[in-house]
Amino acid sequence: SISGDVAGESEKIHVAIRLRPLNDKEMVKNDVSDWECISATTLIFKSSMPDRSMLPSAFTFDRVFGPDSGTKQVYEEVAKEVALSVVSGVNASIFAYGQTSSGKTYTMSGITEYAMADIFNYIYQNQEREFVLKFSAIEIYNEAVRDLLSSDPSPLRLLDDPERGTIIDKLIEETVEDWNHLQELLSICEGKKHDSSQEHCDEIEMQLDFNAEVRFSCGAAQRHIGETALNEFSSRSHQILRLTVESCARENFGSGNLSTLTASLNFVDLAGSERASQAWSTGTRLKEGSHINRSLLTLGTVIRKLSKGKYGHIPYRESKLTRILQNCLGGNAKTAIICTMSPARCHAEQSRNTLMFASCAK
Ligand code: ADP
Ligand code: MG
Repeated sequence: SISGDVAGESEKIHVAIRLRPLNDKEMVKNDVSDWECISATTLIFKSSMPDRSMLPSAFTFDRVFGPDSGTKQVYEEVAKEVALSVVSGVNASIFAYGQTSSGKTYTMSGITEYAMADIFNYIYQNQEREFVLKFSAIEIYNEAVRDLLSSDPSPLRLLDDPERGTIIDKLIEETVEDWNHLQELLSICEGKKHDSSQEHCDEIEMQLDFNAEVRFSCGAAQRHIGETALNEFSSRSHQILRLTVESCARENFGSGNLSTLTASLNFVDLAGSERASQAWSTGTRLKEGSHINRSLLTLGTVIRKLSKGKYGHIPYRESKLTRILQNCLGGNAKTAIICTMSPARCHAEQSRNTLMFASCAK
C-alpha cells in the first residue's frame, strides 16, 4: 500500500555518529578534541563547559564511531543490512548528514563501494534468480535537479506518476552490465559533481566473489573551480546515487510474474548541515534567498515526524529531495543516517546541532 502520509508502521531509522580525526587545519590552530566515545553507543563532551546551553554532555545512539573507526566498520555495523534489503525488494536510503568538512563525502563514497560490492556478491551467490540493476545519479542544487550521468546540465522536472509516485522526467537510468561498468558510471558522476573527496580511496580493499577486477575512480576529474567555490557548492548541494534492483526467479523471468521484486537503494550525500541548523534553533521556517536550504530543512522535518512514528501529515512534497525520496523514506523502507562530526572545539556548536538533529531522528 502507498502509505506516504502514514508513519505508523515505519521501520525504525538507524542513527549513527561518526567522529572524524582532527585534521591538519585544526591541529595547526592547536585545536583539541572535546569528544570521546565511551562505549559503542555513547558519546560524551569532555571539557567543562563555560556555556550551560551546551548541556547535555552525554549522547546515546544506535552506534557511535570514534576517529579510529574505518569506513568499513561503519558500513558493516550501520549500513550493510539496510543496503542489502534492496535485493529482497525493500526500498532503502543511507544518508550522510553533517556540517561541511565533517566527513560526509568521505564516509558516503566508501559506503557506496562496499554496498555495491556486497550486492554484486549476493547476486553472484543467488544464481537461481535473475537480477537487473539500474543506476542513476542526480544532484540537487538550489532546488534544481541535475542528471550526473548526462552531459546536459539543464534541470530535470519532477512528475507525478499515479503508480510509481514522483518520477524524475528524462532521468538517465543505465542498465548495469557488470562490475566494471558500474565503476565507470560512478566515475562519470565523480567527474560531473562539483565535490571531491577521494583521498581515502586506498583505504578500500574488498573481496569480490565474482572475481572482477577492482578499480576505483580515484581523482577521476580535475576540476576548474577553486577550493572555496568547491566548498560553497558542495555545502549547498545534495547528491543522490540510486541503484534499482529488479529480480525474478529464472523460470519466470520476463513473464511479468508476481514474483518479480523491485526496490531502490539511495546513497545520499547531503548539503552541509550548517544550511539548516540556524533554522532549527531559531524556528525559522524558510527564508527565501537566504543561506537556508529548503531540501535539507524539509528532510529534517520529515525525518523527525517519521521517527516519532505517529500518524499525520508528512511534508514530503515541500522539497525536491523529499519528493524524490518519498518512496524510500518511511513506510517499510529502511533508513540509516550517519551523522558526521568534526571533533574540534572550534566546531563544537555545529557538532551540537548535528547531535540535536541525530537525537530527533532516532
Ligand atoms: P564533507 O563532505 O562533509 O564536506 P569530506 O568528506 O570532504 O567532508 O571530508 C573533509 C576532509 O576530511 C577530507 O579531506 C576527508 O578526506 C577528511 N576526512 C573526513 N572524514 C575522515 C575520517 N573519518 N578519517 C580521515 N579523514 C577524514
Ligand atoms: Mg562533501
